[in-house]
Amino acid sequence: MGKPTGFLEFDRQAMPSRDPLVRLSDWYEIYTRDDDKVLKSQGARCMDCGVPFCQSETGCPIDNLIPEWNDLVYQGRWRDAYERLAKTNNFPEWTGRICPAPCESACVLGINEPAVTIKSIECAIIDKAFEEGWVVANPPSDEARTGKRIAVIGSGPAGLAAADQLNKVGHSVTVFERDDRIGGLLMYGVPNMKLEKDVVTRRVKLLEAEGVSFRTNVNVGAPGSLSAEELRERFDAVLLACGALQGRDLEIPGRKLSGVHMAMEYLHGTTQSLLDSKFEDGQFIDTKDKHVIVIGGGDTGADCIGTALRQGCKSLLNITRRQREPMERDDAHPWPGEAGTYFLDYSHKEGEAKFKRDPREYQVLPLEFIDDGSGAVCAVKVEMLSWSRDEETGKMVSSRSGDVRELPADHVFLSIGFTGHDTPNIVEQFGVNTKWGAVEADYGKFATNVDGVFTAGDMRRGASLIVWAIAEGRGAARAIDEYLMGSSELPCPNMRTELSSTAG
Ligand SMILES: Cc1cc2nc3c(=O)[nH]c(=O)nc-3n(C[C@H](O)[C@H](O)[C@H](O)COP(=O)(O)OP(=O)(O)OC[C@H]3O[C@@H](n4cnc5c(N)ncnc54)[C@H](O)[C@@H]3O)c2cc1C
Ligand code: SF4
Repeated sequence: MGKPTGFLEFDRQAMPSRDPLVRLSDWYEIYTRDDDKVLKSQGARCMDCGVPFCQSETGCPIDNLIPEWNDLVYQGRWRDAYERLAKTNNFPEWTGRICPAPCESACVLGINEPAVTIKSIECAIIDKAFEEGWVVANPPSDEARTGKRIAVIGSGPAGLAAADQLNKVGHSVTVFERDDRIGGLLMYGVPNMKLEKDVVTRRVKLLEAEGVSFRTNVNVGAPGSLSAEELRERFDAVLLACGALQGRDLEIPGRKLSGVHMAMEYLHGTTQSLLDSKFEDGQFIDTKDKHVIVIGGGDTGADCIGTALRQGCKSLLNITRRQREPMERDDAHPWPGEAGTYFLDYSHKEGEAKFKRDPREYQVLPLEFIDDGSGAVCAVKVEMLSWSRDEETGKMVSSRSGDVRELPADHVFLSIGFTGHDTPNIVEQFGVNTKWGAVEADYGKFATNVDGVFTAGDMRRGASLIVWAIAEGRGAARAIDEYLMGSSELPCPNMRTELSSTAG
């Protein structure tokens, strides 16, 4: 283990970031890195507990060998730490930056002390590995090639993790992507300040150098594009990893007014314009000097806030029906699960720095978008809600208070979740079964009802997290390898979840 008394000697020091007001003037990543000495002391805080819950079914979904690399970092054995990390995670430079770190919620030290900074250590290991030149293309030899051809549709973390794993065992993989750049939501959802796009393309280039083929601007299933039939003829297996990109809409009066947008339209356009022309082309929604309201929370809402702040919006509110989270774990969120406590994400901190308040406003029900007389939105009519516990069911229920207000808004961004895949042609042409917007397949098997067609990531499990997309991609690769070769040495992470969910 790290240092037996490390957790007593050193306080938690989470990943540092640039000053919120300074970083608002650019689109570069918000994070900086601690020096090796600090990281060593953070690694030393890991107690190497008998049962490392950070690796349990409530911890890291890809089974990262956390206590092992914490100890190696404490010992200054960075290269060994990288090699342990690379065993379980295809893309630690992505999770190390933007994973919400369920491992830290499950950390045993977190029961009565601040948890080990697992995510920062993960990020530091892989960043150092790139800096030192340890991460190099390692293509399979020609003799190891199996001659089997696999089509992966969708280039998000699920599709890329599967492609990486399948290529490693010698299959020939082609990834099809309808966008002009590879990366899925990591390219056109998560904004640049959270994950710089060079960090995405650096990895894509490595995959390419290892033999994975990429075809962009191919909207599989769309009229005039590649059809399911063509793909099934040309490939031995197909993986559907098209995400869950259908945003949930808010059908209240005034929805069609100009200025009311789906969040993804805003985020996709902003990143595309940044990458294409550093905003010179004007092909994005501009909130400079405008009143902005973001409806709904989560990562998507937080990213809309960070984007509007960088554009120089005049005012900013993030409204949600929910109650504010408690400051401490409550009975509904026992350890080692998600803590569910109040916290300020990066953009909330930026909003607080700029407007002297957390931009989130809780217990607000949107009623109507108000027309300025020209067909554009100028305000959102809302009613304040109150929450109380229902005596019979014990559940929290909301009721309307009668307190109705109008909040000024020139742009409104809807960020109230995703209802499932947005690619009905694929589902229809392949003939796969769906339920609640997700393609049906069991975790661990990833096989759809159609022979040779598999599915993984958000398209299978519904909108989720990068780390889960990687877990699913790795597991689907194993299932496909087994389908093609009769057996597989590839791992399927997090099978404990599957076992515990089927145990009764
Ligand atoms: C704004 C936003 C911020 C987020 N922030 C975080 C975060 O901070 N941390 C975190 O862990 N998770 C975050 N997430 C969630 C995370 O990004 C997703 O869970 C993850 O990307 C899902 O991976 P995936 O590979 O299943 O699908 P996706 O990343 O959605 O990729 C699917 C790809 O399939 C392509 N595709 C779809 N249909 C077709 C077709 N017919 N032909 C060809 N290509 C097709 C799409 O264009 C897309 O590129 C965020 C999500 C959003 C929307
Ligand atoms: S991938 Fe996420 S859950 Fe796993 S160790 Fe890294 S931060 Fe923790």
